[in-house]
This record gives sequence, structure tokens and C-alpha cells, in this order.
Amino acid sequence: MNNTHDTRHTDHTDHTHDRDDTDDLNALVRDAMAAAVRSPLRGRVADYIPALAEADPTAFGMAIATVDGRVLGAGDWRRPFSIQSVSKLFTLALALAEGGDALWSGVGREPSGNPFNSLVQLETEHGIPRNPFINAGALVVTDRLLELTGDAAGAVLDLLRAESGDPAVDVNRAVAASEAEHGHRNAAMAHFMAGYGNLRNPVEDVLAHYYAHCAIEADCRDLALAGLFLARHGLRADGSRLLSRSEAKRINAVLLTCGTYDAAGEFAYRVGLPGKSGVGGGVLAVLPGRGAVCAWSPGLDAAGNSVLGVAALDALTTATGWSVF
Ligand code: GLU
Repeated sequence: MNNTHDTRHTDHTDHTHDRDDTDDLNALVRDAMAAAVRSPLRGRVADYIPALAEADPTAFGMAIATVDGRVLGAGDWRRPFSIQSVSKLFTLALALAEGGDALWSGVGREPSGNPFNSLVQLETEHGIPRNPFINAGALVVTDRLLELTGDAAGAVLDLLRAESGDPAVDVNRAVAASEAEHGHRNAAMAHFMAGYGNLRNPVEDVLAHYYAHCAIEADCRDLALAGLFLARHGLRADGSRLLSRSEAKRINAVLLTCGTYDAAGEFAYRVGLPGKSGVGGGVLAVLPGRGAVCAWSPGLDAAGNSVLGVAALDALTTATGWSVF
């Protein structure tokens, strides 16, 4: 008789049920993708890194991995793509795991209100970038990870391979070289921060590791699995602890407020999850306690987020109620 208080059974107009058996998960992913393509908006493929301009604008995939061990997807979910700034989630996690809170003396954790590659704040804020996900901040994180491990890009690669179980995850050296050749803004930021004493390794080394981890190629399945440690409150796939529960919470918080360029407010409004996007068109979102979802399509909006990727995540969380709010 108490069932009358359970709206899942009584409110037939509310579709935000806690549907998560595997058949339902499959349907949810497909429905979310179908909802996304109903809008005519597709965005534009990033071309400021020439090697990225070759991405297939029609590609679209989505994968979900759950903390209870299921992983499934639809569309181009097994097609590798350039993860770009999605890698910054993993560099941050590793830098905190290896070096703890000392990181925060060199990088802040506030939204920047500026484009991801902006230089303007760096001068007024004395070479301390606003957050770990804008390029300047990611360069500082890469520098600290390089200092802590001796191989920042290798550490990210190892983590991705281990968590996804996919040994094919690798750096695309042609993309990294293309980034280096056209990376004047990143080089300018790195030198600028070095001028303020906020880099501990030679600028060339920091840039090389940064470009390498941005140029990692992985598919939606790999990234959904690799993001699960944040849904598991810091635990890796093998059960060992990468981060404390509190560190995992904090990374999720910074993802929510700063993870999707200068549109994190819009992403929180539409999707309501911690997430990280990249200019390759990938978006990885965390469902704390439940799982991780990766959507990918290379067409980007003006802020740099995948148009179809965000739309699919929006549709998924709207249909399920799976958000942190
Ligand atoms: N490697 C890219 C850059 O430095 C990353 C951009 C991104 O995905 O936000 O411009």
C-alpha cells in the first residue's frame, strides 16, 4: 500500500524513471542519439589544428559504462578519435594522485569566463591559470605530472589502457606533430608562465607531453570505462584506489564548473553532470555512483563543445533524471 508514494509506479507521465537494466540502457542510448539528430544543428569540425580538420563530420557515437560492469554503446562508439582536452581530466587526476594538493599553488579552480586558449588573464593573475582545463592550466598540470612521473603523456596512456582494457589506445604522432607546428598560442602561454616561474620543466618538454596526451586516440567505449574511477569515488577498475573519495568529488566539481570551455553553465543547465569535452568532438560525463558516458561527434559549437554529443547527453539525462541536481 505504501507504493502509492512511489512516483515511479503511479505517475505515468513522468519518464524520469530509474531505468537501468541492460535492455533499457541500450534503448536509452539509442533514443538519446536519435533525439540529438532530430535537430538540424551540426556545428563545425575544428580546423585550427590541421590534422583535426580531417575528422569525419558525420561520425556520431555514444557509450555508457556502469559501475556494476556493463558497457554498451551505439553508432560509432568503437571508432577511435582524437581525445584532445578530454585528456585533461586524466592529467588532473594523476597529478592529484601523485602529488596531492600542492598542485593548487600553481593553478586555480574557478571558471575563466574566457576562451580555452586565452592569454589575457595570465598577465593580470601573475602566470597562475584560472583552472586545470583551460590550455594554460593544463600546461601547468602536465608540467607537474612530468615532474612527478618523468613521463606525463606515458602516465595518461597507461591509465587509459589499464582502465579501458584496450591496448590499442595510443598517441597519434601525426596529430601531435600538427599541434606542435601550429601551437604558437600554447607555446606563448607556456613561455609566459615560465617567465613567472610557474613551470618546473623546460617549456619544450612540457609542450611535447601536452601535445602527446591531447593527441591520444581512443573510442567512446574506452573513455566511458576510463572515466569510471570518478563514478566509483576514486577506485580504479582493479579495485585499487587512485584518488580519495574527497579528491574524486573535487575533480567532479571542477569538471562541472570548468570542464566544457566557456559553456560550463550551459552544460550544467542542459546535462547536469560533471563533464569534459575536447575539440576532437568527444564529451565524457560522469554519473557519480552509477557510471560514465562518452558521446562523440566532431561538429563543434562556438564554445568548442560537440553539438551532437551535448545534445545526446542532454536527451539522456532529461529522459532518465540522471544528473547531480
Ligand atoms: N590540444 C588542443 C589545444 O591545445 C586541445 C584543445 C581542446 O581540446 O580544448 O588547442
